[in-house]
Amino acid sequence: MPSAGHRHGHDHGHAHSCRAEPAVILTRAEELCRERGVQFTALRREVLEAVAASEPPPGAYDIAERLSRPGRRVAPVSVYRALDFLMELGLVHRIASRNAFVPCAHAHGIGENVVFLICRTCGGIDETTSPEVESGLGKTLKRAGFTPAHSILEVEGDCGACRDKARGAG
Ligand SMILES: [Zn+2]
Ligand SMILES: [Zn+2]
Repeated sequence: MPSAGHRHGHDHGHAHSCRAEPAVILTRAEELCRERGVQFTALRREVLEAVAASEPPPGAYDIAERLSRPGRRVAPVSVYRALDFLMELGLVHRIASRNAFVPCAHAHGIGENVVFLICRTCGGIDETTSPEVESGLGKTLKRAGFTPAHSILEVEGDCGACRDKARGAG
């Protein structure tokens, strides 16, 4: 079992640079499946590839469409099942506010807080973790007597690149 330590190498501050490389994330998926003795089926691979290759982040229906071709229809329900599997392995995150999926190669610990920075201009989604949020939220939840299963924070706004562009144009 890999340690779920709090080193996830995610402290560079620039936006949009943290997208997982498709090749890297596929290798990681293969390793994880081997480790856990679960099948990395052709469909699971294709769905992961589609998530890793699509920009902006695709929804399940986009993925189903992308994988379907004449003579082979991939049902959204099959895509959802594959996505559930990939999310369980931590290879994919769901952006609730967009109902879209992003690849992740950060090997977070289960239950680790993830903060998504969603750019309303370019649609880019950057992912970061925040020990500050984590400890603050932990205190709040404790006070409320609430045990979290997982928590994901989504922040919508303007990424650095779009802000710079707007500034340059103005
Ligand atoms: Zn992640
Ligand atoms: Zn942007």
